[in-house]
Amino acid sequence: VRGIDHLRDPRLNKGMAFTLEERQRLGIHGLLPPRFKTQEQQVALCMRNVARYDENLNKYIYLMGLQDRNERLFYRLLAENVEQMMPLVYTPTVGLACQKFGLIYRRDRGLFISIHDKGHIYEILKNWPEQDVRAIVVTDGERILGLGDLGAQGMGIPVGKLSLYTALAGIKPSQCLPITLDVGTNNQSLLDDEDYIGLRHKRVTGAEYDDFIDEFMQAVVKRYGQNTLIQVRAVVVIKQGEFEDFGNHNAFRFLEKYRNKYCTFNDDIQGTASVAVGGMLAAMRKLKTKLSEHTFLFLGAGEAALGIAGLCVMAMMKEGLSSEEAHKRIFMIDSRGLIVKNRPAGGVVGHKVEFAQDMPPMKEIAEVVDRVRPTALIGAAAQSGAFTPEILKKMGEINKEPIIFALSNPTSKAECTAQQAYEATEGRAIFASGSPFDPVTINGKTLYPGQGNNAYIFPGVSLGVICTGMHHISEEVFLYSAEALSEMVTDEDLAQGRLYPPLSSIQEVSIKIAVQLAEHAYKTGIASLYPEPKDKAAFIRAQLYDYHYTSPLCATWEWRSPENHNG
Ligand code: NAP
Ligand code: MN
Repeated sequence: VRGIDHLRDPRLNKGMAFTLEERQRLGIHGLLPPRFKTQEQQVALCMRNVARYDENLNKYIYLMGLQDRNERLFYRLLAENVEQMMPLVYTPTVGLACQKFGLIYRRDRGLFISIHDKGHIYEILKNWPEQDVRAIVVTDGERILGLGDLGAQGMGIPVGKLSLYTALAGIKPSQCLPITLDVGTNNQSLLDDEDYIGLRHKRVTGAEYDDFIDEFMQAVVKRYGQNTLIQVRAVVVIKQGEFEDFGNHNAFRFLEKYRNKYCTFNDDIQGTASVAVGGMLAAMRKLKTKLSEHTFLFLGAGEAALGIAGLCVMAMMKEGLSSEEAHKRIFMIDSRGLIVKNRPAGGVVGHKVEFAQDMPPMKEIAEVVDRVRPTALIGAAAQSGAFTPEILKKMGEINKEPIIFALSNPTSKAECTAQQAYEATEGRAIFASGSPFDPVTINGKTLYPGQGNNAYIFPGVSLGVICTGMHHISEEVFLYSAEALSEMVTDEDLAQGRLYPPLSSIQEVSIKIAVQLAEHAYKTGIASLYPEPKDKAAFIRAQLYDYHYTSPLCATWEWRSPENHNG
C-alpha cells in the first residue's frame, strides 16, 4: 500500500482524522487541510450534511458517497444513529434509489452476474477481490419491496441490506458480498429508460433460469464454501446466502429446493415470521397467556402471512399442541376470501392447503371475524385500510385486549394506523405495524406502537450462523430468534405498549440472538466450529467489526542489544 492509498481506499481513509505523525510518515502531509479531527467530530459533521438535504434520495446519495470514501465513518454514523439512518440506507428510501439507480449510479459496488454469463459464474466470482466472504445477499430484482420488477436496479437491496449486517450485527464489510442476478426485466418503463443499467430484454424463465440459479449456488460453494478456505483458516468457513426479493412463486420454491443443501434463508418469509412471532411473544408476556390459547386471523396468505402462520404453528407445538390442534387455531383470508377446504373452482393450492379450514366459504373479513372470534388479527395483504373501524371495534368487543398487527408496508398500505387501532378499542389494542407510527395519546395515556422491522432479526441470525459455522439454517432458528427478541423487551416497554425494544438497542438484540443461536447450535450439534467456545457472548463480541479508526503505522521499537542497528 502506498501512502496515497490511505486517502483513496475507503477502507483505509480517515480524512482529517489522520494525526500529524501519520500524515508525515505516510507521505500524505499537505494533502489534507491543517486541521485534525476526531471521529466523533466527523460523525457530527456527517449528521449536519445529511440534514442539509431535503430529499431522502439526496441523503441516500450522500451516504453512498461516504461509504465510497470512508467506510469506518459510514458504519459508525449508521450504527450510532440507527433510527434516523436505517430508513435512508434501507427501506423505504432504498426503493426510490433502486428506481433511479441508473441515474444516480456513481461507483462499482457488488457483483452483477447476467444470464449471458451462464457457464462462467465461478469465473465472475473469482473477480471479487475478497477471499473470506461469509454473507451473500442475492436478488434477481423481480419483486422489490412492493415496487415490482426493477431488474438489475434491484442491486440497491443487497447493498443496503448488507450495510445493515455490518451496522447492526458487526459483520465485517469485507465479508459481505451483494449480488444481482440479471436475467432481464419485464418492466417496460425500465426497458425504455435510457439510464437503465441492466440487460434490455424480457426475463428469461423456465429451465434456463433454474439452471442459472443452480449454477450460481454451486459456484458460490466452490468459491467460498467449506473446502476452499479450510487450509487458510483453522475453522470450517461457511458461506451464507440469503434470497431476497425474488418473485413469490420463486421464493418458496428456492427456499425448499436449497435450504437443506445450502446455508440459506429467505428474509421475506422467515425473517418476517420471526419478527412477527417475536412481537406476539412479547404480547403474550403482557397478556400473561400462551400462544396456544389464542385464535389467529390473517388477512393475506402470501410470503409474509404464510411464514408467520407456519412459525406460529411451530411455537404452539413447542407449547404442547399437536400440529393439528395448532393449525385449527389459524385462519387465513386471501384475495378470494377465507381459505376453506371446499373452496369452489380452483380450490386451495400450495402452502395454503395446510391452513384450509373445514368451514363454509365466506368473503368479508367482518363476517369471518364474527364467525371465528379471533383474539389476534394480523394484516399482511397490502390492502390499505382493510381493518376498518367497525372491524377494529368488533375485535375490541370480542377481546379485552385484542392483538392487532398491521404489517403491510409502506405506511400507505397499512391495514390500519396505530391511531385507528387504539381509538376503536379505547387504547386496549396491543398493536404493532410494519411501518413506523408516531405515539398516540388516548385518555391521557401515551401508547408507543411497535414496529416489527425485520432488521431486528436478520443481522443477528446471520451473525449467529457465521460465528458457529452452522451449515443449514433450520426453521427452529427463527423461533429461537423470536424468543430472544421478545426477551429484550422490558416490562416498562410493555407497559407503554411497546412490543419491540427501541431501534437504538438493535445491536444488542443482534448479539442476543447470535448468542441464543450459538447455545442452540452447540447443544444440538449443528455447529461446525470447534472447539466450542465456553463464553459464547464473549466469543461473539470478540469477532465484531470495529468502526473506530486504528493506526495505519507499523509499530516501531528499540533493540536493547549492543548491535549497531542504526548503521
Ligand atoms: P404477497 O406474497 O404478494 O402476498 C399478498 C397476499 O395478500 C396474497 O396471499 C394475496 O392473496 C393477499 N391479498 C391480496 N388482495 C387481497 C384482498 N383484497 N383481501 C385479502 N387478501 C388479499 O406479499 P408478501 O410478501 O406476503 O407481503 C405482504 C405485505 O406484508 C406487504 O405489504 C409487505 O410490505 C408486508 N411485509 C411486512 C413485513 C414487516 O412488517 N416486517 C415484512 C414482510 C412483508 P392471493 O394469495 O389470493 O393472491
Ligand atoms: Mn424483502
